[in-house]
Amino acid sequence: MGRRRRRRRESALLWWALFAGIAVAAWWFRSWRLALVGLALWCLYEFVLVPTVCRVMTRQGYSCREPARGRLFACAEPHQRIKSDAVWRLVGMGDPFRKKTAPDPNRDTGVVLVSPKVRGRLAQTDMLLIVLAALGTVVTLAGMVYGL
Ligand SMILES: [Zn+2]
Repeated sequence: MGRRRRRRRESALLWWALFAGIAVAAWWFRSWRLALVGLALWCLYEFVLVPTVCRVMTRQGYSCREPARGRLFACAEPHQRIKSDAVWRLVGMGDPFRKKTAPDPNRDTGVVLVSPKVRGRLAQTDMLLIVLAALGTVVTLAGMVYGL
């Protein structure tokens, strides 16, 4: 803590209060549709909205402490590439957006920033929550289809 160059962000508690509110409302109105909306919102929250830290493992072996928003996202471009790569491998495929051709000639350095060994190591919490949110998304979609 202390005076890092960290921007002030809303507390995660705020989000959880919102989810609790939806859960209570869903229970109160006995509405599974409302519960479904809550679940969808939670998945979205975990994927792209949660105030978290980047946590990409660097070559030096510690995880990046820069703030990031959403478990799918990292602090900056190089880390983002590592993270997307890891997420794609989590679902069992290579990143379809990642070109397997020669290095980008426009980039600044000719240095390989990431060694293959450390590629795509996500923190376990992030991995778990991404999987949970993915499952939640499946449940939401199934519920929507069922609801029609
Ligand atoms: Zn980072």
